[in-house]
Amino acid sequence: MRANATGRVLHDPKGGSFRFDAGAVCLDFAHTGGEGRYAVFETLHEPADLGEWLAQPPLAAVMTVPVAARELTAAKTLRQAIWDAAHAQAARHPLPAGTVATINRAAAAAPLIPALAADGTTAGWAPPVRATQALSTLAREMIELLSGPLAERIRECASDNCPLVFVDTSRPGARRWCAMERCGNRHKLRALRARRATDP
Ligand SMILES: [Zn+2]
Repeated sequence: MRANATGRVLHDPKGGSFRFDAGAVCLDFAHTGGEGRYAVFETLHEPADLGEWLAQPPLAAVMTVPVAARELTAAKTLRQAIWDAAHAQAARHPLPAGTVATINRAAAAAPLIPALAADGTTAGWAPPVRATQALSTLAREMIELLSGPLAERIRECASDNCPLVFVDTSRPGARRWCAMERCGNRHKLRALRARRATDP
């Protein structure tokens, strides 16, 4: 999993789409939908939707065993835990106990097993490739993130009404927005208008 290969295109149910890079695969995964008021953003409607998401790079875990309904349920539970943990960390609050337990439980399963191809220069995942393994890999990545040096780089978008959360993996560490083309430009435009309004 290369950090610079993360990111997905997110679709707004009201129309429009933009590329959002959460900086880690597990955090990208946290933005595949949600519960309550975030249910309108759901993209994982069926087990096969989860398989399709996992098959895309950088994880590129092409399932050799079809995703089961209970794996989709487990995926959504883990997703919520990653989302909650990331927001707690971004606010520098202690992580809710249930969230920690959920992430640990997912990580306890066997993860994806890397396998070198016969050419000796490319790698994939050793079959059988199951969703439960991929979820374990995502949970382990989240554990590494929260317990590593980048934990303090987990932030919520600086826009007032944008709950998107990411880990800033840039060298300067000055990332503020979910995406420049979304919240960054809106902010710049507002700042420009405000400046013009106050100019004599
Ligand atoms: Zn934003």
